[in-house]
Amino acid sequence: MTNRVVLIGHPVAHSFSGGMQQAAFDALGIDARYELWDRRPLDLADAIAELRGEDFLGANITVPHKEHVVPLVDKLTEEATAIGAVNVVARDGGKLIGHNTDVAGFKSALDKLVGRQKMPRHAVVLGAGGAARAVVYALITGGFQRVVVFNRHLHRAEGLVRHFGRSAAHMELRAMPWHESVLEAELVKTKLLVNATSIGLAPTETPIPAELLPPDLLVMDLVYNPPQSQFLKDAAAARDTVLNGEHMLLQQGARSFELWTGKAAPLDVMQAELDRAREHGLREMPIEMGPADRASGS
Ligand code: NDP
Repeated sequence: MTNRVVLIGHPVAHSFSGGMQQAAFDALGIDARYELWDRRPLDLADAIAELRGEDFLGANITVPHKEHVVPLVDKLTEEATAIGAVNVVARDGGKLIGHNTDVAGFKSALDKLVGRQKMPRHAVVLGAGGAARAVVYALITGGFQRVVVFNRHLHRAEGLVRHFGRSAAHMELRAMPWHESVLEAELVKTKLLVNATSIGLAPTETPIPAELLPPDLLVMDLVYNPPQSQFLKDAAAARDTVLNGEHMLLQQGARSFELWTGKAAPLDVMQAELDRAREHGLREMPIEMGPADRASGS
């Protein structure tokens, strides 16, 4: 029986996870197939229920489902509970367990971005979705003293701050309205800026006008495709140190692989596949649409 692992999201076509995980399965001789499932929120519960089939090792969960999947699994790890978002589902006997490997992936990427510099203590985070929750949790548990969250819909950023109320009791965690003047005032006080919105998936869009970016910031964009978003181009031009989301993708993916297979991830194989995809484009992988799309004929 060929085992199956799926990526559940909407959209999924831009994702490098499929090629990266398939290359890892093939390199280790694991009889498993990675599939891309494009599912609207309406179809999420059915998609998770399907994972109970014997042939499934688990799933990756991506935009926009990471928070909505929380009540649909049988058990959450301590970290996934604290974050309130799941990016990996793995099976434990008959049970579906919700994990969050984005936190470890982000921490590894942050270490790479900071390099030999001193780890900063203040950060500005753009976004308040599932990925932003993992970022904020990593900063709270990583010794940051002040983290300010900006989001298009302020109430979602306020919800995030409320969610972390207890774990952030020792530091200052604030939600602020997404106005240029407020952003500008915060950016001159910070050292680390993280884009955890999905703005940037479209190559010319950017969350922040170039003129607002001060020099000498550490800037991370969780977006990795395109490899250099307009946001990172602007930040590099402002003499900031920049990193895209590829290292985080690799590290969270390696941990996902280990949860599904119980084997150490072949990091060099996975990185080589990411390099190949960046140079030559994504592997051809069929995308399976859900019932809501089939019904609407789209
Ligand atoms: P969600 O759908 O949960 O959240 C999306 C976020 O983007 C929200 O804060 C949303 O704001 C904001 N947003 C979307 N469109 C706009 C817009 N036009 N203007 C302003 N804000 C906007 O997604 P995730 O949190 O799961 O993912 C966010 C990004 O991070 C994605 O690009 C994803 O690919 C990337 N990512 C990368 C990873 C990696 O390993 N490199 C890992 C995880 C995520 P609002 O709430 O106001 O709608």
